[in-house]
Amino acid sequence: EPTSLSGLPSGVGEALEAEGVADLYPPQAEAVGAGLLEGENLVAAVPTASGKTLIAELAMLSAIERGGTALYIVPLRALASEKRAEFERFEEFGVTVGVSTGNYDSDGEWLATRDVIVATSEKVDSLIRNGAPWIDDLSCVVSDEVHLVNDRSRGPTLEVTLAKLRRINEGLQTVALSATVGNAREIADWLDAALVDSDWRPIDLRIGVHANGTIDFDDGSRTEVPVGDPPTDDQTAALVDDALGTVEDGQGGSSLVFVNSRRNAESAAGDLAAVTRRHLEESERAELDALAEEIRSGSETDTGETLADAVESGAAFHHAGLTSAHRELVEDAFRDRLIKCICATPTLAAGVNTPARRVIVRDWRRYDGEFGGMKPLDVLEVHQMCGRAGRPGLDPYGEAVLLANSAERSEELFDRYVWADAEPVRSKLAAEPALRTHVLATVATGFASTRDGLFEFLTNTLYAEQADDDHHLRSVTDGVVEYLVANDFLERDRDGDRDAIAATSIGHTVSRLYLDPMSAAELIDGLRAASGGSGTDTDDATTAADRGDGVQYAPNEDSAEKTQDFVTYGRVDGNDGREEADSEAPDGRPELTPLGLYHLVSRTPDMYELYLKSGDEKRYTQTYHEREDELLGPAPSEYEEVRFDDWLASLKTARLLEDWATEVDEDRIAERYQVGPGDVRGKVDTAEWLLRAAETLGREIGLPDDAVAAVRDARKRVEYGVREELLDLAGVREVGRKRARRLYEAGIESRSDLRTAEKATVLGALRGRERTAETILENAGREDPSMDDVRPDASAAAAAT
Ligand code: ADP
Repeated sequence: EPTSLSGLPSGVGEALEAEGVADLYPPQAEAVGAGLLEGENLVAAVPTASGKTLIAELAMLSAIERGGTALYIVPLRALASEKRAEFERFEEFGVTVGVSTGNYDSDGEWLATRDVIVATSEKVDSLIRNGAPWIDDLSCVVSDEVHLVNDRSRGPTLEVTLAKLRRINEGLQTVALSATVGNAREIADWLDAALVDSDWRPIDLRIGVHANGTIDFDDGSRTEVPVGDPPTDDQTAALVDDALGTVEDGQGGSSLVFVNSRRNAESAAGDLAAVTRRHLEESERAELDALAEEIRSGSETDTGETLADAVESGAAFHHAGLTSAHRELVEDAFRDRLIKCICATPTLAAGVNTPARRVIVRDWRRYDGEFGGMKPLDVLEVHQMCGRAGRPGLDPYGEAVLLANSAERSEELFDRYVWADAEPVRSKLAAEPALRTHVLATVATGFASTRDGLFEFLTNTLYAEQADDDHHLRSVTDGVVEYLVANDFLERDRDGDRDAIAATSIGHTVSRLYLDPMSAAELIDGLRAASGGSGTDTDDATTAADRGDGVQYAPNEDSAEKTQDFVTYGRVDGNDGREEADSEAPDGRPELTPLGLYHLVSRTPDMYELYLKSGDEKRYTQTYHEREDELLGPAPSEYEEVRFDDWLASLKTARLLEDWATEVDEDRIAERYQVGPGDVRGKVDTAEWLLRAAETLGREIGLPDDAVAAVRDARKRVEYGVREELLDLAGVREVGRKRARRLYEAGIESRSDLRTAEKATVLGALRGRERTAETILENAGREDPSMDDVRPDASAAAAAT
């Protein structure tokens, strides 16, 4: 109860009480009893929606009250802003909150002024690599969803980041929040933490299986849910209909349906819209129409259109291909009980903070590329989905239902998921791709300077806690060190007992740029191929070392660099790629074209590939033959099937980026490559980051200035999504690719044109939007941006042309 909550900023106790926290939930009380408010380490393994966030908040707030600062590590970027919004309610008690997102290689000194910082583990890792000074002064770190150390691709970063933070600051309070897993004790031992391991939940949860028109629940109860005529002629539809019909509060019981792919999420939402529509009140229809309109007006994509169609009827889908604006809109409307049913993919199960009356796990298998077929979901994942059932204060209990098509299957699902314990969490650190990155960063950041020191550092990881012996880790690490030495990222100095390891200048750069060393090696090779093959000699290392100080990634540089981008790069600068590109390139050197560069960055392991679909192999083999000259470095032979297919898949990604940089509409691109609009943005962001890195690496290996400028232009074109002639205009804030094109067509071709153009012409090109026009003129540096003096008939006339 609030009286036991001493040591918090004054007013917080009362505020929590006002929020409805009259008493601590049992796991919360246990955490406080274990010294949470006095800076003790704690692992809390409790079910979803059982108040883990409050445990984190109590730890952070008490640390702040003692004069310290806290870091909250989120598993997904999308969750960072959600958490910030939650923590901002403490601002009235003097607690400041900052969120650190953006490029991995960027940094922000302003964060030092915040009491609570929210960031992903990748971002924290990058901040450590770039030497953000405030990291040293942290007093409390919270790791949300720490069971994700089990994740093959992202787990190792979380693991190493926690180990580093704890090494930097021995007094750091570590609070780790986990789903209920089999081996929470091991995680607690790793982190030297007290353990709260509990199944308690604020609302009872029944888990059951629906087969032959009946749900059998784990508590022995049964509910008849017959499958009827359309639109309730399948199990999911019948269950969604039943939940809406049986809840008596007049609002209906909402459902969350988990399916195994984005496509299935979209089509299921379309089907279920016919069900939810029947349960809508007149006023709800009007509100949903408005919502659908909002979605349509904010997007021109098929995905947005499909979403709007479903939302009109009270259904929606939710997956990683949605834009974050649409995701938020869907989540809010679901929480407001306007949307009655969301169909979601399992990857987002952890991210959707949307309790539902009924959770339906429709698909329990999902396609796994590495596995090469349909693979059952982990027990942990299914339990987390089920945990979303039950809305506190609204439902007497939550229901989670799996679907079976026979009694036998029903039994199988009971054994596999209902009665089963979640899998134990296992460290995935001892895998080569993970260690490649982390060994380089660990050495570059000064956590180790010898081979033994490296192993000693690695004993701070969960891997070391779990492994019987460290033989495997040592052999993978040795192999990785060799790779890094061979690529000139590390230098090794062995002499008698000495075995010193240090990062080279370029190794430091790669670490700070947050590149996978293999990506860096690919970029360097490709760029060297473009610089006429000179530069494979060791002179480069010397050059790089001499210039090392010139490549600054000091914490305060980022904002300066960004501003400079907007203000001085581009044509007005008089010193950009276009002019220099006119000068002769040395003989025999392939020209650096955007496509070649997009292909180069798409080949790196840091870019998620597009898969080749049927017909693609033929299509991109043809593209390859047509544009072979533009691609950098030696192509694999067509007989090396796997490597050649990879080459083509990268070419497909490169063509997507090229489409974007030649102003092809976003929805056309989504359609052409069969991806969601969120994916297009994702690829564009990654390409921008990798090209920025390529530019830095190019400078460091002594690439000629015109080649570096070509990389920069390709990067800016992908950043703005425009052809070359619009680069200058699109660099003006608020202009964007479409408005830039319209301005250009109206004869306004540059930033300086914006400063002198007829206002009526500007207004016409911007379709009469006065506020927008004023903002843009102001951003272009015009002295008198006001549109007050523009005669309406003049702008109307301009708009009509
Ligand atoms: P988790 O982080 O474990 O998924 P949350 O922290 O989101 O769960 O908690 C779920 C809900 O329970 C939140 O709406 C939160 O405000 C509420 N809650 C947490 N602790 C208490 C408490 N002690 N008393 C009442 N409500 C609480």
